[in-house]
Amino acid sequence: MPAKRSAPQRRKKPTVRPRSPRRSKKASNGGRILLALGILLVLVVAGAVTVRLMLPPRTAPVAVKVPQPPASRVVPVPPPPPPVVSQPRPEPVAPPPAPETPEPRPEPAVPPTYEVFPAVETPPAPVPSPPSPGERPRVAIVIDDLGYDARLAEAFLDLDIPLTLAILPFSPHQREVVAAARRRGLSVMLHLPMEPEEYPRVDPGPGALLSSMSPDELITQLRMDLAEVPEAVGVNNHMGSRLTRESDQLNQIFSVLKERGLFFIDSRTTSHSLGAQSARLLKVPFAQRDVFLDHSQNPDFVRRQIRELLRRAELTGQAVGIGHPHRVTLDVLREMLPEIRQRVELVPAAALVHRLS
Ligand SMILES: [Zn+2]
Repeated sequence: MPAKRSAPQRRKKPTVRPRSPRRSKKASNGGRILLALGILLVLVVAGAVTVRLMLPPRTAPVAVKVPQPPASRVVPVPPPPPPVVSQPRPEPVAPPPAPETPEPRPEPAVPPTYEVFPAVETPPAPVPSPPSPGERPRVAIVIDDLGYDARLAEAFLDLDIPLTLAILPFSPHQREVVAAARRRGLSVMLHLPMEPEEYPRVDPGPGALLSSMSPDELITQLRMDLAEVPEAVGVNNHMGSRLTRESDQLNQIFSVLKERGLFFIDSRTTSHSLGAQSARLLKVPFAQRDVFLDHSQNPDFVRRQIRELLRRAELTGQAVGIGHPHRVTLDVLREMLPEIRQRVELVPAAALVHRLS
């Protein structure tokens, strides 16, 4: 019995063997190894991240290089139109409403500020009677192309003579120049850009009136130009050797001048200008340029031109000279002031315009 009892008792003994110390040691070593591997992995990853952060951003240029500039931006810009008269120019402006052009042309950084001078000097058409004895010949000097160099304009004003300043519309310093002229009691004109024969190689600049414009476009552009210089008492043309030959367009322009009570001084950039004809038709007070003072910027040339201006005034009673904001013109005018004052009376351009009959 005891044997019987003992048998089940023996059977009841736990079958699970206690862990052998060797086995549990093995398991605990495996855990440590896994832990160590985990830590090692974390350290490796952290190290890699740190090294990446500390290295200079060598990968950045790749990202920057991705947006390659379009090929069109690499293509060289078309060469600018050849200048008519070489001379440094001032800075650019808000472009005017683009006139219709047959093909796109690059907007000049700086609008042209120089006339296209006629090849041949033209004699004065309407000849006022010579001054009666005791009367002095009268001369008006208009300085064109103003609005781009305020300091040079001030220097002309410092001559303290009754110059008439012709201001280009949409020019960067037009307000300063107009204000400076008005402070000295001088009158200003709108220097109206008009299409030259050489257009589009020669660009008259912002606000230009073109022969390709419809009557509506022409009048709208002219009104915008006039609005730029509301103080103007008259208008003269900047360039315009093409447009001043077009009687229809000139009549449209002069009808607006008539409506505004403005006079017109024909710069006569072509001997075929129809300015006098339109002025007569629309009864716009009119005069025309007798002498350009400075189309060669040489002191002796400018002296000769000023003497020619005085001579014409002595012959006919009056003459209109047009100069430009060149340093040589300023210097020679200053130098010749005693002779000018001795021979003629300097007057504003408005004093020399007439109704033509
Ligand atoms: Zn001009």
